[in-house]
Amino acid sequence: MNRSGYYFDLADAPMPRFELLSPEKYNRFTVQTSRGCPHLCEFCASSVLLTPKYSVKPVEKVIAEIRRIKSICEHPFIEFADDNSFAARAHYKKLLAALRDEHVKWFTEADISIADDPELLDLMRESGCRQVLIGLESPTVAGLNGIEIRQNWKLKRQPSYLAAVRFIQSRGITVNGCFIFGMDGQTPAIFDDVVRFAEQAGLYDVQVTVMTAFPGTPLYDRLEREGRLTEKRNWRKCTLFDVNYRPTHMTARELELGMIDMARRLYEPAFVESRRRTFKSRMRDDEN
Ligand code: SF4
Repeated sequence: MNRSGYYFDLADAPMPRFELLSPEKYNRFTVQTSRGCPHLCEFCASSVLLTPKYSVKPVEKVIAEIRRIKSICEHPFIEFADDNSFAARAHYKKLLAALRDEHVKWFTEADISIADDPELLDLMRESGCRQVLIGLESPTVAGLNGIEIRQNWKLKRQPSYLAAVRFIQSRGITVNGCFIFGMDGQTPAIFDDVVRFAEQAGLYDVQVTVMTAFPGTPLYDRLEREGRLTEKRNWRKCTLFDVNYRPTHMTARELELGMIDMARRLYEPAFVESRRRTFKSRMRDDEN
């Protein structure tokens, strides 16, 4: 496949056969509202490979899909199957205004810049958004330098990560913060850094994965050039939890063991519960 994929006009997308998804058993449905992402991370196995540019599905088409879902499921939970919703801000404000009348609950993936736009956050909440997944990648500058092909957007945003997560959550939208381990420059200190950040931010959910060189990505090509791939073209090691390359500032084994230990701490029920309490109390503080 061409690295930049091919452009597909989402206005031509057919109505999906939602009824094939056993709506009597599952209430979670995916709706693609846009395709692509402007950030071009070198490890990205979706946007960078699938489309040459960001495109959106027309508002009326998204609403039609949601109505079709509602016709077969009384209380659906919608997951926007997007790489990065809201990159076309004006379009999404129209979509969210229309979505408000549909009374559904939904989840999506976005970048941290949504914290700059209180009007957008309020529209998200009013239209049923319950959670947004955000690829923070690293809570410190370690690892962020150079992860995007054309710019250093996330490195520049990192100083505001903590305040941004708190602000989004204060508007009643939970954040699922995603972190990647084993990026160039990260030392074993990264494991404690993420646990500390999750606590300070009161992150409702946390997703952790090992940096993975998927064949076809710019990351794979770079690590191959540098002679650092240890599992060339072995898709069985592309699980996001196996290590298929040599990290720069720790061994592969240190990375694996560090992940396991950190995951134990992050997902320990008392810690999860305390982060969720923090979310609720900060939301109430904001409402008062
Ligand atoms: S921000 Fe996410 S979707 Fe966008 S290029 Fe990076 S990894 Fe891909």
